[in-house]
Amino acid sequence: MKSLPYFCRGEVVRGFGRGSKELGIPTANFRDSVVDNLPADISTGIYYGWACVGNGDVYKMVMSIGWNPYYKNTKKSMETHVIHKFKEDFYGEVLSVVLVGYIRPERSFNSLEALIAAINSDIEEAKMKLELPEHHKLKDDNFFTSTTIMNGH
Ligand code: ADP
Ligand code: MG
Repeated sequence: MKSLPYFCRGEVVRGFGRGSKELGIPTANFRDSVVDNLPADISTGIYYGWACVGNGDVYKMVMSIGWNPYYKNTKKSMETHVIHKFKEDFYGEVLSVVLVGYIRPERSFNSLEALIAAINSDIEEAKMKLELPEHHKLKDDNFFTSTTIMNGH
């Protein structure tokens, strides 16, 4: 995918209440404007990269880009699981991410256990790949330290 690495940021909005948090894997949903700006060659599926909330620290993340059931699957959604335990929710805050690499296409699972196992293996793959020097250096990109991050771009 020629658009990778892809940098973007925007407000975190409420999702579809699919109970990701109950699975122990909360996913922060981007507002529509962020999703609308996605380059066409970024296909649906699971990605890994770096993320930061507001002016906070930069953590590893996995992101699912999929079809948004709220819009009858005519629009995409971008859901980021930040690999970090936060003390509080961060709805309404600005999430900054860089999509670094692609893990796998979206698929459906026969059981919740199978879904959770797949996500956990995505998380392990993300952790490992992001240690590669060419991926790790993106953690320190100016994008995450810029002081003018507040209203998206
Ligand atoms: P929703 O359907 O509203 O997206 P989720 O159950 O997916 O609900 O929870 C997502 C919310 O959880 C995020 O918007 C964020 O405020 C919060 N959250 C807490 N920890 C994390 C994390 N590590 N990664 C992503 N979101 C998190
Ligand atoms: Mg979510």
